[in-house]
Amino acid sequence: MINHPISYGHQLITEEDIQAVVETLRSDYLTQGPRIPEFESNFAHYLGCRYACMVSNGTAALHLCAMALGIQPGDKVITTPITFVASANGFRYLGADIVFCDIDAKTFLMDFDKLEEILKASPKGSYKAVVPVDFAGYPIDEERLHQLSVEYGFKVVVDACHAPGGSWTDSKGEKQMVGNCKYADLSVFSFHPVKHIAAGEGGCITTNDKDLYEKVALYRTHGITKNPNRLTRSDGGWYYEMQELGYNYRITEFQAALASSQLKRLNWSITRRNEIAKRYDEALKDLPVKTPYRADDIVHAFHLYIIKVDADKRKGLYDYLREHNIFAQVLYIPAHMMPYYKRLGRKEGECPVAEEYYKHCLALPMYPSLTDEEQEWVIEKVKESIFANI
Ligand SMILES: *Cc1c(COP(=O)(O)O)cnc(C)c1O
Repeated sequence: MINHPISYGHQLITEEDIQAVVETLRSDYLTQGPRIPEFESNFAHYLGCRYACMVSNGTAALHLCAMALGIQPGDKVITTPITFVASANGFRYLGADIVFCDIDAKTFLMDFDKLEEILKASPKGSYKAVVPVDFAGYPIDEERLHQLSVEYGFKVVVDACHAPGGSWTDSKGEKQMVGNCKYADLSVFSFHPVKHIAAGEGGCITTNDKDLYEKVALYRTHGITKNPNRLTRSDGGWYYEMQELGYNYRITEFQAALASSQLKRLNWSITRRNEIAKRYDEALKDLPVKTPYRADDIVHAFHLYIIKVDADKRKGLYDYLREHNIFAQVLYIPAHMMPYYKRLGRKEGECPVAEEYYKHCLALPMYPSLTDEEQEWVIEKVKESIFANI
């Protein structure tokens, strides 16, 4: 019997993490010191991309990507309805017209066949950007999307907030880390506590494109630069220029220190999450429950472990788990069904697979510090609820 609450996701803070933050608090910098470029360099190295730009949160990262791509009011941008609303909002801030492309029933990722249908229906160049999501930690096929982007002329921003440490295999059989941007213009990450790297708040943009990197770095801090190569003149050592209208989307030193300390455990986290997933798979395989699909040639980052149950059993299961202090979660309510996006013309019925998914989905507790005992407890309660309902 377990008495404490078990959430669908939870951060792990070790003594080493605490030491890293304390050290920063005792140092000369609380913001804009050496810890931020240190994390950026380690993260870029880990992923295998050229540039990383750390920002205050994942939503800010998406907003800055939209700015760097020059999104204008009315520009059409395609994303998936099964995501946290920030994937769409980051582009909406600039007035983009958000189009939702339905998901694949098996992977719950944006369905690239449907995407192609949407693209084909309009003249080339009609869509400025496509923002797929590595939903739940399942990496999208960036290579296929890249081919489509060449054919139809759009930019690719991968919302990789669920999938740092995940990887997929390209057509040459080469392993590609999520976020390495080999086939994408930009990728974004979040360091919110439920995500793999928990820094309180935080985000990061990765790219191999120098120009895009310089843009997001400039917009991150008011559009202000002191870089001598960029200044239009120089009046002396104090001189800086505000060259664009940017934001204060900076992150602090102590968040960067915490993120760096957590990055060291990312591989362990992915391994542990996959072990937990396997245990769930095994335990639930004979129940009327659908466990998450994954292809053999990907490494799933398992931000979420999502099961599908009968639509008429889902609420009962959710409530039963809650009664036992298990906070499973329904993720996500399709974004196109949100009142805000409905006011902009999106309609229920336009993404039927996503809408069907929403009726069945439930994210069970999934985080690396979930103990075997806790997981057994969750499994037991899932079984009790399902058998009571059969
Ligand atoms: C968490 C998340 C974000 C936003 O990140 P924040 O750091 O909370 O702003 C964006 N997209 C997805 C898919 C996310 O899960």
